[in-house]
Amino acid sequence: EPQARRLDGKAFAAALRARVAGHVARLKDDHGVTPGLAVVLVGEDPASEVYVRNKGRQTTEAGMASFSHRLAADTTQAELLDLVARLNADPAVHGILVQLPLPAHLDADAVIGAIAPEKDVDGFHVLNVGRLATGQAALVPCTPLGCLMMLDDLHGPDLSGKTAVVVGRSNIVGKPMAQLLLRRNATVTVAHSRTADLAAVCRGADILVAAVGRPEMIPGAWIKPGATVIDVGINRVQLADGRSVLRGDVDFASAAAVAGAITPVPGGVGPMTIACLLANTLTAACRLHDLPEPE
Ligand code: NDP
Repeated sequence: EPQARRLDGKAFAAALRARVAGHVARLKDDHGVTPGLAVVLVGEDPASEVYVRNKGRQTTEAGMASFSHRLAADTTQAELLDLVARLNADPAVHGILVQLPLPAHLDADAVIGAIAPEKDVDGFHVLNVGRLATGQAALVPCTPLGCLMMLDDLHGPDLSGKTAVVVGRSNIVGKPMAQLLLRRNATVTVAHSRTADLAAVCRGADILVAAVGRPEMIPGAWIKPGATVIDVGINRVQLADGRSVLRGDVDFASAAAVAGAITPVPGGVGPMTIACLLANTLTAACRLHDLPEPE
């Protein structure tokens, strides 16, 4: 039975973090600039707390300054906007990330829109979305950026003639992923919950990116032999014996028997996201100080 190459996101992310740390050290030595990332967390979502803690730790490990702002769940829109304004104006802060989801009484679009676009390291501000769509220098959302880096490593920067299918059309993953694949000259289809015959659409993909949020929804039978499969899904699943495990959007066992290369869950795309956040903070710091960007 043929087995796909397993794309090791953990190792890839460690290498990326090491490269970022090297650039950060040079930026400090040569220019006296320490890139700084501010993370804002409102309320007490346990998953968000884990993410924010990991972000802070990895930021510090890369030699950057980490600023953590924890606000009460009943923080008002005006208070949050006031903090964002202060971070926008703070020269020690090069990247600002407001952890989503926000409590329901807050307007996430308005908060993201208030972040200075040049400090918007999540790449969610409409200006960065528009810049990505029009081929201008943008800050690109971390998860699709990580997927692209893994694809670049495997296929090189030109996907001419290849068919790419992205399942999922969220602003965080699906849509920016499609833009990045288009920029690499792939022929891109974006599928979603209203797509007819998703199986047939997926079977046409040389590159299949799954960002759905449904555990093991995509079986090997939907995968073109030899295709590259990037599984963005992170789904917590309760097993019959009571254990709780993480599963992707792709059924790994059956997919790995057909695909040419595939990312596992966990240990695939997941670790790349925070590494790309650090890379974006470095990029933002270089641009804000008019210094050349690392490649
Ligand atoms: P969203 O819920 O925002 O979007 C899911 C998309 O999947 C929607 O476009 C939806 O379609 C589509 N969809 C839902 N059901 C189906 C179906 N049955 N068939 C086809 N399409 C369907 O999720 P996100 O994009 O934020 O996240 C997707 C997954 O990636 C999640 O598992 C999430 O945990 C994971 N993730 C992982 C990250 C990481 O690796 N660090 C970061 C971000 C997310 P429609 O628009 O029509 O509703």
